[in-house]
Amino acid sequence: MEGLIMNYPLTTNTILEFGNSVYHHKKIITHLPDGTRHEYRFGDLYKRCKKLANALTQKLGITKGDIVGTFAWNHAPHVELYYGISGIGAICHTINIRLSSQQTEFVINNSEDKVIFVDATLVPLVEKIASKLETVTCFVLINAPSNFKTTLLNTIHYEDLLANESEEFEWPALNEKDACGMCYTSGTTGLPKGVLYSHRSTYLHASTILSPNAGNYSNQDTVLLVVPQFHVMAWGFPYLCLLSGSNMVLPSSNLQPESIIKILIEEKVNKANGVPTIWLGVYHEMKKNPPREKLALEEYIVGGSALPKSLIEGFEKDFGIKGVQAWGMTETSPLGTVCRLQPKHAHLSDNEKLNIRAKQGIAFPGVELRIMTDEGTLAPTDGNAMGELQIKGAWVVNSYFKTNNLDSFTEDGWFKTGDVSTIDADGYMEIKDRTKDLIKSGGEWISSVALESALMAHPKIKEAAVIAIPDEKWVEKPLASIVLVNDEDKISDEELIEFLSRDFVKYQIPRDYVFINEVPKTSVGKFDKKEIRRLFAEGKLI
Ligand code: ADP
Repeated sequence: MEGLIMNYPLTTNTILEFGNSVYHHKKIITHLPDGTRHEYRFGDLYKRCKKLANALTQKLGITKGDIVGTFAWNHAPHVELYYGISGIGAICHTINIRLSSQQTEFVINNSEDKVIFVDATLVPLVEKIASKLETVTCFVLINAPSNFKTTLLNTIHYEDLLANESEEFEWPALNEKDACGMCYTSGTTGLPKGVLYSHRSTYLHASTILSPNAGNYSNQDTVLLVVPQFHVMAWGFPYLCLLSGSNMVLPSSNLQPESIIKILIEEKVNKANGVPTIWLGVYHEMKKNPPREKLALEEYIVGGSALPKSLIEGFEKDFGIKGVQAWGMTETSPLGTVCRLQPKHAHLSDNEKLNIRAKQGIAFPGVELRIMTDEGTLAPTDGNAMGELQIKGAWVVNSYFKTNNLDSFTEDGWFKTGDVSTIDADGYMEIKDRTKDLIKSGGEWISSVALESALMAHPKIKEAAVIAIPDEKWVEKPLASIVLVNDEDKISDEELIEFLSRDFVKYQIPRDYVFINEVPKTSVGKFDKKEIRRLFAEGKLI
């Protein structure tokens, strides 16, 4: 028997309507690339989304089910595009601006984008591939000066597009299962794969992660969205801020540590998100040049790669700012777990607490996790048994766009993450590695993530990335590439081996170290191990 409850579709329009009716006074602040500051309210966002909906349907001929691309930094018009495009039943495809030209061309042609909204500062990247784009009929230029020159054909300025449109628009009835957003994986393991988010998955993901045990966002907060809007819908933050009534601060391309610190101070930001490399940079900058006033920042939430223990400890001890770790993937909308301590942990020592906080955390209600051993059996949840992490839930992909990729799913309907993890008796999951990054030396597994985290706890080390290299005796052995905090510092291999021997047994400790100026990063700011392996293979890592 079905419940006697209304069928109320959970759509992005319901989020926008709610944000406007309750929190129309809340702010969206953008720091633009040219250093200027733009501020308006959720109420203004609402009106402009309606104008955009009129322009999309009437001027650009976009209809339900069409895919519309965005090629842009984090700023107010990009938020308008999130809501305006999905509001009319079309799909907002956020294109990762840091993909290679070849990958960008692939994702645009593969998704069959009809129109692309592009930041003026990013136009040169699109110009390079414009002649190869098969489906794009028009480019809309965001934040372009009136005398802007481009070789792109059929362009219109975003403000001109909206200028004469009405603020009245009646949202069409939408099915919550319809697609509203689209993001491609960053293609670290081949061509990028498209993931289509539904209205329902987007709503449920956002409303779950704002809750106190998870992200903990409310109408008391001012949140800086460091995670790019071109990567997994900025982790759903443009949606959750409207649901929670949190002020949204958008940095556009101002992502250098000094710019982030300036924005944190100026806007009195108290919560923020981002990948660890961003927060490592901010921390080291604050150590070098301590800000004159205490930051309002209480907590930063990190995902995308492991949050080093030393960063959690350092930020908290030196500046009273708390690091919270989350885990997720493009395929999981993205957030799947978050790590917070509970009252039952109160009696633990600081170090024991830190060990828990450095884990990736517990699953959100709405998703389930399990660990599958190499033998195909379910691993015990004892915090030790390692295996492939698998996930299912209300915002987990069930198929990639246009490709079957049956390899990514189990027969009983779980998504195979490619991460190697453990889960303990309380449900805390810990990533040991990605399958392809694990090091197997002399038949024993070594976790590169654990070694990196330990190395980055060394006061002279800023970044450390560990890869497997061939070895005659052990088949594989770990090699650590290291970036020092100060170039002039010296640190010997023996000192590092001694330092690591506190936490690791002999066979796990790298004997090979290389000192580099910068660890190569992927398009979303993660250590690019594929590139490090390539540099090593070509003898360029010395
Ligand atoms: P891609 O798969 O293209 O690298 P994603 O952003 O989807 O892009 O990456 C997801 C992967 O990032 C996860 O499978 C995991 O390996 C890694 N990851 C995400 N969050 C964390 C975290 N908190 N700790 C360690 N690894 C993480």
